[in-house]
Amino acid sequence: MRIVILGPPGAGKGTQASRLADHLGIPHIATGDIFRQVAAEETELGRRLRATMDAGELVPDEFTNELVKDRLAKSDASNGFILDGYPRNVDQAAALDEALDDLGTKLSHAIKFMVRGDDIVRRLSGRRICLECGAVYHMETHPPQENEKCDHDGTSLVRREDDMEDTILRRLEVYGEQTRPLYDFYRERGKLVEMDGLGSEEEVFERLLGILGH
Ligand code: ADP
Repeated sequence: MRIVILGPPGAGKGTQASRLADHLGIPHIATGDIFRQVAAEETELGRRLRATMDAGELVPDEFTNELVKDRLAKSDASNGFILDGYPRNVDQAAALDEALDDLGTKLSHAIKFMVRGDDIVRRLSGRRICLECGAVYHMETHPPQENEKCDHDGTSLVRREDDMEDTILRRLEVYGEQTRPLYDFYRERGKLVEMDGLGSEEEVFERLLGILGH
């Protein structure tokens, strides 16, 4: 299965995409995670990415498209993949179609996670992550066992720089202007599946499996 997960920031895409990838035995490719790794490096590229992401802006398409294209050409993605956070605008969606064309394959579904605006801000401001292993927590809905420490490795959890209030608002604006048009793009191509993103992690996962017939 070749799946794209779409939805506003904070819709729970990352959590579900990662579970689904494990369940299906295919890679979870999250451009945000890849960029965060590069941004953590003390290099010129790391600094530039950090500035872009902390401002809530999109990383330039040319760089992003190239990165995803190379990743999709790796052998572990030949039987399928879950893309999370990409595409984020219509130019990226067109580049993805082209990259899949070159690989002689097509997208199976674009799944849209639907969530209300006030839920989004609540989800993003409660989110904490472990920089060591990438685990994601939520202080209300999925807290760590020990206060603000990762369950896997005990590392202190942090709030993502781009989960601060001002950046959240800018990310939502960018989403509205650039990412929302993708729903029509995939609807016109008969790929769009809309799914209610509300509910517990477990409920949403069951719903997702139901949609995919698994
Ligand atoms: P969220 O979906 O919660 O906004 P992500 O982890 O997907 O968070 O992305 C964080 C940031 O990484 C984005 O705000 C953007 O700066 C950058 N980014 C991620 N994916 C893309 C992409 N496909 N194109 C451009 N920038 C991206």
